[in-house]
Amino acid sequence: MNSSDLEFDLRHIWHPYTSMTHPLPTYPVISAAGVELELSDGRRLIDGMSSWWAAIHGYNHPVLNEAAKSQIDRMSHVMFGGITHPPAIELCQQLVAMTPAALECVFLADSGSVAVEVALKMALQYWQAKGEKRHRFLTLRHGYHGDTFGAMSVCDPDNSMHNLYKGYLPNHLFADAPQSRFEGEWQPEDITSFRQLLLQHHNEIAAVILEPIVQGAGGMRIYHPEYLRQVRKLCDEYQILLIADEIATGFGRTGKLFACEHAQIEPDILCLGKALTGGYMTLSATLTTRHVAETISQGEAGCFMHGPTFMGNPLACAVASANLKLLSDSQWQPRIQSIETQLKVELLPLKSHTTVKDVRVLGAIGVVEMKQPVDMASLQRRFVQHGVWIRPFGRLIYLMPPYITRSEQLSKLTNAINDVII
Ligand code: PMP
Repeated sequence: MNSSDLEFDLRHIWHPYTSMTHPLPTYPVISAAGVELELSDGRRLIDGMSSWWAAIHGYNHPVLNEAAKSQIDRMSHVMFGGITHPPAIELCQQLVAMTPAALECVFLADSGSVAVEVALKMALQYWQAKGEKRHRFLTLRHGYHGDTFGAMSVCDPDNSMHNLYKGYLPNHLFADAPQSRFEGEWQPEDITSFRQLLLQHHNEIAAVILEPIVQGAGGMRIYHPEYLRQVRKLCDEYQILLIADEIATGFGRTGKLFACEHAQIEPDILCLGKALTGGYMTLSATLTTRHVAETISQGEAGCFMHGPTFMGNPLACAVASANLKLLSDSQWQPRIQSIETQLKVELLPLKSHTTVKDVRVLGAIGVVEMKQPVDMASLQRRFVQHGVWIRPFGRLIYLMPPYITRSEQLSKLTNAINDVII
């Protein structure tokens, strides 16, 4: 990659949440293997981000490469309307087997945001089929569910895009986010706002949607499982569907296969994405119960009204299937346990630093929340100088490394954080 390529990139290519007039620098990566990204100048960086929660087994994995190669020689894609194929069937069998028993029906879609759209649409069609007009969703402040319109409408109303798209987004209900920390004491008043909103509006609410245990892009907040238990109980009481968005938390990241397990609750609709293909390509899945699926199918439309062109893409399904097998054959639990222990030892002491507001660790997630927003460009540059890839946002410097990260590699990541803070 030469400098004119980089100039072209700067001038013509959008990057996520980046200005076209004053873009932040981008770093040219030419290959990746294991937990390392290789820059075009030959430098190697230890990856602390798993490419936004996705690359759980690291990059260029021989098993996933092989799954992609052998599938591409059979067929890369075929439409899903009127056709089925072994990669989709095998993947859905695995998903049905590994998720709660009641979640039997799988909808495959393109990305996390679309999985959320699908979940919201399922809830709307469910109530329509039951002859009830319910058009609102109840969710939590500090939530994040994606960038498409339905998903955006249930993201945090203050720290997201609500103001930009005012008048276009539907008006949903936002309960106060839980304050009780994951390992702290449960504060019963945490549920008050949620309970009150449910009480006032239950006749118009189609579903509750939330990120279980870890609120990701909305602030990397890690909350008490009792909140989830109470939400499930209240949803049962008022017969309201519960949608768990496990797009970020799913597949072991929090130390459990799914974050709902921390509270021993089960959702009515479950959204999965990100790590589903081990970070190889985009694919998502929305699972629901037979009751929800059958109710929708008995409604006016007679079916669920969604059907992406690339639904059930065989290539993505084949890689996802190999990825889930790799996960279940791996020692992911002890690995994540030891990542958690090490993150606690190496990051928690930063709590006492004057510029640090809080440090939180759960599973293979480590978060350092600063008191002030960080200068992203300069911090990024310093991390690259340290030989690590860590991308902070706002006041947050955080790690979610691939599960295969070794102890000395993890220390390199935490040392870099310690060095830039102190
Ligand atoms: N839900 C959650 C909890 C997420 O973290 C994300 C992605 N950051 C999404 C939904 C959207 O997924 P995608 O970016 O694949 O559309």
